[in-house]
Amino acid sequence: MTTSHLDALVDALRKLPGVGVKSAQRMAFHLLQHDRAGAQQLARALDEAVRGVRHCARCHTFTDQALCAICSDTHRDARQLCVVETPADQAALERTGSYRGYYYVLMGRISPLDGIGASALGAAGLMARATEGDVEEVILATSFTAEGEATAHVLSEGLKARGLKVTRLARGVPAGSELEYVDLSTIAHALVDRR
Ligand SMILES: [Zn+2]
Repeated sequence: MTTSHLDALVDALRKLPGVGVKSAQRMAFHLLQHDRAGAQQLARALDEAVRGVRHCARCHTFTDQALCAICSDTHRDARQLCVVETPADQAALERTGSYRGYYYVLMGRISPLDGIGASALGAAGLMARATEGDVEEVILATSFTAEGEATAHVLSEGLKARGLKVTRLARGVPAGSELEYVDLSTIAHALVDRR
């Protein structure tokens, strides 16, 4: 039995996080009934992103180039390296305008239940970047969730063992929160009061 085009589309849409059969059907019906041009735009954007987006060679975030825009900026403070979980967290810190160092983007966090330990998270890449030479302080800005705290703890051990000064965003950020959703002045204060 061959799968119809519609079934194949619904199956594909279900690959999105949090999308079940019903939502996937709703999306498919909407695109086919009301927005075929939008559907084609989506297909093109997906195809191009999958082919063209890679990880920055220095900070591991998503980029179209070998180096992302921030790592390419030579006017930032090379003595500071801020570790965040996601590009969205990095964007939140950038919006505060109070951080001028570089970043390392983990693209996740340690999650024992999902089988993601330090090695799966790519901690080795961070250790290599942090010991490249100019870095004097590594600021851990992982989220204040249980997994974010565990991630900070594990990374801190590894970084300290390599002789680096390690600080953590101050506790002004509410427990259990993702940085991405915290207001800018709170993040800015947490950055200033880090220890
Ligand atoms: Zn980069």
